Amino acid sequence: MTRTASRPHVVIVGAGFAGFQAARTLSRLTRRRADITLLNPTDYFLYLPLLPQVAAGVLEPRRVTVSLAGALRHVRLVLGEADGIDLARRTVGYTGPEGDRGELSYDRLVLAVGSVNKLLPVPGVAEHAHGFRGLPEALYLRDHVTRQIELAAAAGDAETCRARCTFVVAGAGYTGVEVAAHGELFTRSLVRHQPLRAGIEPRWVLLDIAPRVLPELDRRLSDTADRVLRRRGVDVRTGTSVKEATGDGVLLDDGEFVPTRTLMWCVGVRPDPLVAGIGRPLERGRLLVDPFLNVPGHPEVFACGDAAAVPDLAKPGQYTAMTAQHAWRQGKVAGHNVAASLGLGKRRSYRHHDLGFTVDLGGVSGAANPLGVPLSGPLAGAVTRGYHLAAMPGNRVRVAADWLLDAALPRQGVQLGLVRSWSVPLDTASPEVARVAQAAPKAENAEGAPKAEGAEQPKQSEQPKQREQAERPEPTEQPKQTEE
Ligand SMILES: Cc1cc2nc3c(=O)[nH]c(=O)nc-3n(C[C@H](O)[C@H](O)[C@H](O)COP(=O)(O)OP(=O)(O)OC[C@H]3O[C@@H](n4cnc5c(N)ncnc54)[C@H](O)[C@@H]3O)c2cc1C
Repeated sequence: MTRTASRPHVVIVGAGFAGFQAARTLSRLTRRRADITLLNPTDYFLYLPLLPQVAAGVLEPRRVTVSLAGALRHVRLVLGEADGIDLARRTVGYTGPEGDRGELSYDRLVLAVGSVNKLLPVPGVAEHAHGFRGLPEALYLRDHVTRQIELAAAAGDAETCRARCTFVVAGAGYTGVEVAAHGELFTRSLVRHQPLRAGIEPRWVLLDIAPRVLPELDRRLSDTADRVLRRRGVDVRTGTSVKEATGDGVLLDDGEFVPTRTLMWCVGVRPDPLVAGIGRPLERGRLLVDPFLNVPGHPEVFACGDAAAVPDLAKPGQYTAMTAQHAWRQGKVAGHNVAASLGLGKRRSYRHHDLGFTVDLGGVSGAANPLGVPLSGPLAGAVTRGYHLAAMPGNRVRVAADWLLDAALPRQGVQLGLVRSWSVPLDTASPEVARVAQAAPKAENAEGAPKAEGAEQPKQSEQPKQREQAERPEPTEQPKQTEE
């Protein structure tokens, strides 16, 4: 799609829930009276809430993606990662997928870059834990869990077998709860074909410093999830956190050492560090905007989704939570308001009442409170899946087909080994792309990573400087293992 100098140019950075919806709304409203460019590192929109099902082998990875080129007509897609925004010159600098540099100038800018894994200053976690914020991490986890069960089945001693089939998930927000719930079902299906030593079964441990699972959601959802998890044998430890992680296990703050080769870090997210680098006021790392999603002092700049601190008009004095529900609706309002700023329609403020939440617990189980009505069991499971199908902007038939296949056939217990441990580090500003090694590795260790000698460490092809600097954790961040 070519640009016309006479038409205003709108650049949208990020094609997640907020950016995708902003582009779609704007494209419908402007009907080619503006040039719209969408800058995103991947050519797809990722439906994050179904990611735990990818990790557990229920859904194939492409099912939870929607092609941006296919879904967004009259929107130009530029592949790349923004790494420098110059508000005075009205430009966005970016690095393309092959390391090439580019710059986009804009008349209107929408920042919708989302969030990344939250790090806490716990020894060993950055080295030994993995996050759960992108497709590469979900693919890694599926392979890793399969491999651990295979290695546990072949282990020569009971101690190794037990450690390999113990899986620790830190953080019992919706991500951690769904990862543990689906993971437990996944390993249960794997051991049907790979029996372990007599008396040993896969063990899932779910930790949170908070006094209950799903601490940020309605108490009734929390109770339902807790009941289902415990009934399945998940070791739920509330009021507990990680003191140290090592290659052999996890030391808990109550002094217990849990031997394991798996620590999933689901303690929450923090806003993408890109927004900290632009020099405008932040609220806990999120870019502060007014109720019209405008960055104060810059009527041409809008922000929405996880990366923006949007005043919650339904709960005065608070900011909207980092959820897909808010991001999706804020994207729509941002699209409207950008169009209004170009003379098309009237701008509106963002106001949204909570419509409830759904948590998929795997199998036919779920926990949901649509419009405040608490549901559990198969009804909640059906509502949850129905909600996801309705909310996905594409690929619904394929997702439904995978669910049907999963109900009828055994899970596929094979590891492809395409995503390695070192390519999905916890500490990254780009969880959506797997890191690639620059030089051909000389020798590989068991995980397929180049040996840590000299300069052979895998690096991302180019690390944008502005993002790296902004990425350092805020000094004021308090350790707290709950999902935001
Ligand atoms: C496993 C999981 C399950 C979840 N389940 C639920 C749920 O059930 N319900 C719910 O309400 N919420 C859920 N969430 C939270 C929800 O997904 C987020 O709140 C939502 O995705 C935020 O939307 P966003 O558009 O702000 O960010 P995202 O959807 O993350 O999109 C950000 C986009 O920006 C791109 N990007 C990032 N940096 C750059 C850059 N520098 N340059 C260009 N592009 C960039 C990313 O690639 C991505 O495409 C879940 C999250 C996770 C991780």
